Amino acid sequence: MKAEIIAVGSELLLGEIANTNAQYLSEWLATCGIDVHYHTVVGDNRERMVEVVTRAQERAELIVITGGLGPTEDDLTKEVVADLLGRTLHVDQPAYDRIEAFLKTRGRMMTENEKKQALVIDQADVLTNQAGLAPGMSVHTADHQYILLPGVPREMKRIIADHFDHLLGKETIKSRTLRFFGIGESALNDQLADLIRTARNPSVAPYAELAEVRLRLTAKALDEQVALGMLDTLEQQILAEVGSHFYGYGETSLPEVVLDRCRKAGLTLSAAESLTGGAFASGLTDIQGASDVFRGSAVVYSDTAKVNVLGVPQTLLDEETAVSRDVAVAMAEGARKLYQTDLAIALTGEAGPTSNSGRAVGTVYCALAHSGGTEVRELTYPAFDRGMIRLRSVKDAYFMLIQNISLTDEIGKR
Ligand code: ATP
Ligand code: MG
Repeated sequence: MKAEIIAVGSELLLGEIANTNAQYLSEWLATCGIDVHYHTVVGDNRERMVEVVTRAQERAELIVITGGLGPTEDDLTKEVVADLLGRTLHVDQPAYDRIEAFLKTRGRMMTENEKKQALVIDQADVLTNQAGLAPGMSVHTADHQYILLPGVPREMKRIIADHFDHLLGKETIKSRTLRFFGIGESALNDQLADLIRTARNPSVAPYAELAEVRLRLTAKALDEQVALGMLDTLEQQILAEVGSHFYGYGETSLPEVVLDRCRKAGLTLSAAESLTGGAFASGLTDIQGASDVFRGSAVVYSDTAKVNVLGVPQTLLDEETAVSRDVAVAMAEGARKLYQTDLAIALTGEAGPTSNSGRAVGTVYCALAHSGGTEVRELTYPAFDRGMIRLRSVKDAYFMLIQNISLTDEIGKR
């Protein structure tokens, strides 16, 4: 939607005051996702006002006019707009009553000029003015909306604030959730501090879950496409800062993204699990249709199972213990061979509460075997919660896969 702002007042043209109303109105309209294409200033002169409003009708759908709603002879705005629309003016009773009550407190009777302030354009939505006496107006025609506001900045702002929600018709609200892994809420907040603090529309709200953070972006605009465009822009700004931790939209889960990326890349997957006891496989098989990607997982909890099922050398277990880089690598490579897959994940670690390997509780090795070789990561978690260590290991393994299969992925995006 295109808008034009018309400021009425000869003082503006004489340079006696600056057109701060136009600046304020532009800011307001920008937050509503409305493009302002012109600012026009015109003096208190009927002919020239007709000229600028007629011109605005040709190039804008929304015409916002400030000034000239007052009681004096030179206040012409509503008369000009009414004439152009072929409408008449009538007394708005609530506005009239407000003026009368105000004058009563001063012990005065209403003059004709003061009565003029209660006149409104036929079929206009009257915008009560809690900060003054002249009401504002919103007038709809087939092709245009006119918003008439007083020139006094305080009154203009008060009317916008009081009538914000319905002044520009029905706003659409669009939200998008971005999901991040491997970055804590406070680290994310730090990196995005300025964005989160200053973002009003769209707004940004963080939510923390176990090892995950969600950011909910919400945009309000009159037009759905505008709202979505605002979300796109903010998303790009956020991903420029913390994109390496981003994995998906909405309710998408890590295993869903793993399966989706493998599928798109045409890759099959298997696993070898020690400390997680099958939880990695369980997360994947929770999702219907996982079988085209996921072939199986060997739960090799004991050393014997690691040797017999996956061919991990006994000597390696003796020298390095089961909680080691080399054993993780041997497990991943063993699983890749056993299940004949493109990728294989291995998880081995100390979930506690006591350590069998001599490694600190919370130490986990996650290996990923692929056609180009095998990568291994050492992960360390706080030692106090066995369940948490196992759950985080599984999530870290999913994320390691996601990072390695870097395909643009739009599932769950709205
Ligand atoms: P009033 O009832 O006071 O006559 P009005 O709606 O007729 O209000 P104007 O007479 O145009 O408005 O302006 C009233 C005062 O508001 C001006 O003297 C000026 O101080 C301020 N004002 C008007 N227009 C603007 C503007 N565009 N930017 C900033 N201030 C403005
Ligand atoms: Mg005036």
